[in-house]
Amino acid sequence: MKDLFEIIDKPQNFPYCPGCGHTSIDMALARAIFELNLEKEDVLIVSDIGCVGLVDKLFNVHTLHTLHGRSTAVASGVKMVDEVLFDNKLKTIVMIGDGGATIGLLHLVESAKLNVDITVLIHNNFLYGMTGGQHSGLTPKEFKTSTTRIGNPFEALRIIDILKNSGASFYARTFSQDPDLKDIIKEALSHRGFSVIEVLELCTGYATRYNDLKGSDLKIILENSGGKIKEKIERESFCFLYKNKFFDKKGEFEFTEIEVEKKIELKDSLKIVIAGSAGEGVQLASSLLCISAILGGLNSTQKNDNPVTVGSGFSVSEIIIKDGDIKYTGIEEPDYLIITSIDGLKRAKGFIERSKNIIIDESLTDNKNFIKVPARKYIKLRGGPTYFSLGVLFGKFNPFDFELYEKAILKYGKAKDETLTCFREGLNFGRRL
Ligand code: SF4
Repeated sequence: MKDLFEIIDKPQNFPYCPGCGHTSIDMALARAIFELNLEKEDVLIVSDIGCVGLVDKLFNVHTLHTLHGRSTAVASGVKMVDEVLFDNKLKTIVMIGDGGATIGLLHLVESAKLNVDITVLIHNNFLYGMTGGQHSGLTPKEFKTSTTRIGNPFEALRIIDILKNSGASFYARTFSQDPDLKDIIKEALSHRGFSVIEVLELCTGYATRYNDLKGSDLKIILENSGGKIKEKIERESFCFLYKNKFFDKKGEFEFTEIEVEKKIELKDSLKIVIAGSAGEGVQLASSLLCISAILGGLNSTQKNDNPVTVGSGFSVSEIIIKDGDIKYTGIEEPDYLIITSIDGLKRAKGFIERSKNIIIDESLTDNKNFIKVPARKYIKLRGGPTYFSLGVLFGKFNPFDFELYEKAILKYGKAKDETLTCFREGLNFGRRL
């Protein structure tokens, strides 16, 4: 026990104000961890901003200090990785105040919804202690804080009700002097799924300054606001469902594999940028290019760029194809730049000077150094300018076997006849250049 929690028997050494409820919760948690015989290497405490975050230094377990309100999201991420990819031994505990719970409410809701196997201790002292005693979303009606000096006019959020309705599979509500607190925490830690305990407590720095309160009043506040609660529901966790769906019986990750048709030899990486207009097939044609590379046993990445309104304006894709790992998906100097429209030309301006070869619709430039093609002649066919231009690229430069691109169209494309026609027309055009 001493090893786990150095100052358990010396409350005067806690970093909080004398009488702060955080002390009781820390001690109850330490005893719960101790009585459950948890190995300190298997416990992670994720703390939030506020006085509650001072807990990091007290426990001799893994600790992670996060931004205000974000502790639940970080803890959920860690636990999901532990459960899905590792040995699922980590007990992940969130220490968050009522301020953090208000700021990060949606993280709590999401984690409860997914039933992530973490335990959240909401230290509800009805205000933001560290920053000067301001009211939070969990401040009770008529409670006085530094920002509600004549009493809070609003009802507090009933956070346990919110999380219960979001899918929490263990939820409890009590107060810091409850002799059962340690046992409730033990139950929460032993529960497989999202567990949350709202612990009402006093901030002796501010709550007792503005309100005529003593510790024993907490029980009355609790009773006047719904009373003590402890419920457990059996519900499958997101990680369980995820593993069931994506992992095979041997525990190996299953995914839709694209079978390699024939291995292509490619010495250097291929960097292609396609810049055109939304609705003209840029992103799908680029995806098919990536797939054709995978059919050839290569790796590929696609980075898209379009305005917020996906269906209008420019549409740009950066495609990298490589026989090996691709460490960064952006392109500085394209081997090939395809420009099929005025939107694409405006957006791709930065690439023009840095591109080795530029294939561009003939209506967009007089520059003799560019390969001018009648791409827009095919505008009436689905994705016509893009597929035609890609055909030109294959016809003239033969970066790899064009048949793989045709196979990608036939297997994964849309309006296959139209796109194949455009691609083949481009291929023939490119061969004649
Ligand atoms: S300010 Fe309030 S919450 Fe912070 S340590 Fe002091 S009593 Fe505890």
